Amino acid sequence: MKIKYDVVVVGAGPSGAAAAKGLTQNGLGVLVVERKRLPRYKICSGLINEKSLKLTQKHFGQIPEECYCRPKIIKGVRLWENTEKHTNWPFGGKEGAPNVWRAQYDKFLIDRSGAEVRDGCLLKDFKVNGKEIILYCQDEREGDIEIRCKYLVGAEGCLSSIRAKLNPQLERECLWFLAYQNYYEGECNLDPEWYHGFLDASLGEIYAWFNVKDDFIVFGTSVKRGEKFGPYLKTYTEFLQEHFGLKLGRLVRKTSCLGTNLCATGNFYLGSGNVLLVGEAAGFLNMFGEGISSALATGLLAAQAINEAVGAENIQPLQIYTELSKRERRETLASWKLANRIAGRKLLLD
Ligand SMILES: Cc1cc2nc3c(=O)[nH]c(=O)nc-3n(C[C@H](O)[C@H](O)[C@H](O)COP(=O)(O)OP(=O)(O)OC[C@H]3O[C@@H](n4cnc5c(N)ncnc54)[C@H](O)[C@@H]3O)c2cc1C
Repeated sequence: MKIKYDVVVVGAGPSGAAAAKGLTQNGLGVLVVERKRLPRYKICSGLINEKSLKLTQKHFGQIPEECYCRPKIIKGVRLWENTEKHTNWPFGGKEGAPNVWRAQYDKFLIDRSGAEVRDGCLLKDFKVNGKEIILYCQDEREGDIEIRCKYLVGAEGCLSSIRAKLNPQLERECLWFLAYQNYYEGECNLDPEWYHGFLDASLGEIYAWFNVKDDFIVFGTSVKRGEKFGPYLKTYTEFLQEHFGLKLGRLVRKTSCLGTNLCATGNFYLGSGNVLLVGEAAGFLNMFGEGISSALATGLLAAQAINEAVGAENIQPLQIYTELSKRERRETLASWKLANRIAGRKLLLD
């Protein structure tokens, strides 16, 4: 195994794939390490908004048919204030948003990135040693391995061990929330061509959501870390049963993940020295939990910053990335301010 690369990207989600793509296009030797075997499950509604779609098509090509689920296109977000009143927020672009399975979509992206990919390989720790970064990984096939590189991209998603090591104070100070999602067989009267969000705070601390993927009814809710999601989920399930004819069949999957409030407070963390963070690892997540667009965008921007710094004297990639990502940070923060106005309460802020 070659153990020295120009860049190692940790995480094979959209941010990691985008960073890898931008770097390999510049001829750099890139390794992506991913803790899970690919294709891997990712908790997500799998809606590819207009910005995500444009970035995907421009850098990776058309989304293959096998990534889609039924209904293939989602018209927009339908936000319910109560059982009677809703507002439609159609997705931009002519066609609505592709409805994909993340396992297949993410695999498509990483396969097109041009990078060498090592799945089943967990980053356990790393150390910066002068101009070199040494990664300590646990590989399912080979056991403990050491990988060396000049630049490191942390694309590990919300639970970033790289961010935790570089900025433990931020880790302690930010607020965490839990997203919980069920996949059931069954029926419901809610229009499957829309993604539904329920803003009533009794159903979820941020909001509660519902969508359809192939034969599955997918619904979930979110609570602050440390609080019990059970009562919210029970209230929400009964609410859907009573008002929208939800009939639950077989439970196919239940799943959850943590998130931070870095996106809503503007406390993005972009990295240190030759270590850059992208996507959710850096705190990028747009209002109501849309994150693929900023994952793709920041992955590409970090790659651009590293490409500009490679071989140049006195150019710091972090400085370039900080400058390049200004707009992305501003837009993320603005999106949560808009979400607060729509919801009529402060989301993720206390
Ligand atoms: C319930 C829910 C619904 C959502 N719906 C949507 C939606 O419809 N549309 C949308 O745009 N966004 C949605 N999002 C947000 C979106 O899923 C994320 O913002 C997006 O996946 C972030 O991409 P990423 O590349 O930063 O991280 P991820 O996609 O989380 O990828 C990170 C990868 O890093 C790997 N990894 C982590 N640690 C290590 C390690 N130490 N070593 C090696 N590998 C590691 C992980 O296994 C993972 O594969 C949703 C989120 C949730 C929770």
